[in-house]
Amino acid sequence: MGTDDARDALAAWRDAYPDDPFVADARLRGLLARDLDGDRLAALEGRASTFARAVTGVIGPAAARYEHRAHLPELTRWDPIGRRTESVEFDPAYHRAGERVWASGLVSLSGTPGTAYEQATLLYLLSLEGEAGHACPATCTIGLARALRRAADPSVRDRFLPALVDPDYGDAARGSQFLTEVQGGSDVGANVCRAVPVEGGVTYRITGEKWFCSVADAGQFFLTARVDGAPAGTRGLGSFVVPREVDGRPNGFAVRRLKDKLGTRGLASGEIDFDGALAWPVGPVEHGFRTAVGIVLNTSRWMTAVGDAGMMRRAWLEASAYARHRQAFGRPIGEFPAVRTTLADMAAVSAGALHLVMALTGLEDRIDAGSASDEDVLLHRFWVNVAKYVVSVQTTEVVHSAVEVLGGNGAIEEFSVLPRLYRDALVYESWEGSHNVLVAQVLTDLRRLPVLDVVERWLTDLVGQVPDASLAGALAGRGRMLVAAARRCADDPETGAWHFRGVVDGIGILAEATLLAAAGETALAVHLGADVVAGDGSDPENDGLADRVGAVLDAMR
Ligand SMILES: Cc1cc2nc3c(=O)[nH]c(=O)nc-3n(C[C@H](O)[C@H](O)[C@H](O)COP(=O)(O)OP(=O)(O)OC[C@H]3O[C@@H](n4cnc5c(N)ncnc54)[C@H](O)[C@@H]3O)c2cc1C
Repeated sequence: MGTDDARDALAAWRDAYPDDPFVADARLRGLLARDLDGDRLAALEGRASTFARAVTGVIGPAAARYEHRAHLPELTRWDPIGRRTESVEFDPAYHRAGERVWASGLVSLSGTPGTAYEQATLLYLLSLEGEAGHACPATCTIGLARALRRAADPSVRDRFLPALVDPDYGDAARGSQFLTEVQGGSDVGANVCRAVPVEGGVTYRITGEKWFCSVADAGQFFLTARVDGAPAGTRGLGSFVVPREVDGRPNGFAVRRLKDKLGTRGLASGEIDFDGALAWPVGPVEHGFRTAVGIVLNTSRWMTAVGDAGMMRRAWLEASAYARHRQAFGRPIGEFPAVRTTLADMAAVSAGALHLVMALTGLEDRIDAGSASDEDVLLHRFWVNVAKYVVSVQTTEVVHSAVEVLGGNGAIEEFSVLPRLYRDALVYESWEGSHNVLVAQVLTDLRRLPVLDVVERWLTDLVGQVPDASLAGALAGRGRMLVAAARRCADDPETGAWHFRGVVDGIGILAEATLLAAAGETALAVHLGADVVAGDGSDPENDGLADRVGAVLDAMR
């Protein structure tokens, strides 16, 4: 093959990317069609297809510019005549993309309870571009809007919510969420930022520093702070909304600097000092931590997992097309068994993850609409943490595999979107709770609440829907083993501290494989759960690998 042929092959790989990645995504469309009724589905399909084209045609190219090191956001603390502004300047491409994102309804739908499927679909499509520059602000805004809608006093809600759910990017207020302080992000109970009541507790004054403030340019900050006189630890934390400006001036805060980040570079993340900033409580201050975690952080955990699923889908699209077009040693690289195995692994993991995040989305939808059962609430509590942890780890692995399939070209920023996906995936892993903290939260829940019984029933019901009897038997057996291991971890703190993370890994994969199997995606389920089906001691030379890989790749055509 000569140089021209090689370039033609690369051009063919680029051309293979669909103009409308929503229409091209049969799995996503199938899951939506399964879960949504006719009118709602039709409305979402139209909205998603329009947005998918904008993501490919407008937002992707814009993101390639504003996520580049040469065009990152900059802090402008003063205006030309010396007045404090604490503003952030963005490349114009950033705002071009923002207009499309906000017009899609991704954020404005937060004003309507029970629109989680719509929001998840739109965020997934946006994440095909590894576009954290608006995905993060959108997620933070959705979390704050939900907290105001569900928990705030009506006067506070009506003051702040309308601007957050405005679909016009130019007029809308964007939200942020500031919990982390320099002494600890996982240990939120160590927060020392203070909230002092004024006007008898109608408003508060916030003083202290926040160490990680993404969307430092937001119009409204959601923030945790320790209320004067409240107990130590998380019980003493209130949740507040702090408007960026009061009377047209920065509201008692100063941005120290913007952080120079590995990934998610398009958005501005800063360190902020507060000095008497005027704040309104979001819900009762004594329930501030519950509001922060139960609504704001859990919304972000769900959306982070959804965004991860979108990034994995993109990694699969890039790598699978590349393997068809790129030649080495006289053959398309997709003919080599080792490449085929990598692709099959990517396919099974990314499809399983999509099933899991859409199952979580169903729970989100019902909870937000107020129609969830007690069992749904417990399931959500479990899966929101497990899915965020498991899926974010899988995303880094899947994107890494895609980089490998592209060889040296995979490491080149301007060649494909993959380097950006990889950098963002690493950051997504730590957002909204590091792995160990999420795992520890699940273990605490297992000890306090009947979560494990509910999860066990959920798995059993799901296995009951698996058409392939031997696969169903293998999955059921693994499920019983993992539930028993989880019970041992819950019963014995020492066992839990050492082994529970591994148990959660197993439960996450098992759920993904079982969801795939129940949906009739048998080849992918078998490959994802290969050690479940074959038993851990299977002979590595006789485990049907070639057949399994072939079946997965056939199913992905
Ligand atoms: C780009 C970026 C943007 C961010 N934006 C925001 C933002 O807008 N708002 C915000 O509030 N935060 C933000 N964060 C902070 C993020 O949420 C925290 O980094 C995260 O919660 C972890 O906290 P930490 O960094 O303090 O890690 P630490 O709490 O210091 O943890 C360090 C390590 O120790 C482990 N660890 C801690 N406790 C335990 C334990 N009990 N058992 C086992 N292991 C443990 C953790 O899992 C982790 O691996 C952002 C972070 C990044 C990277």
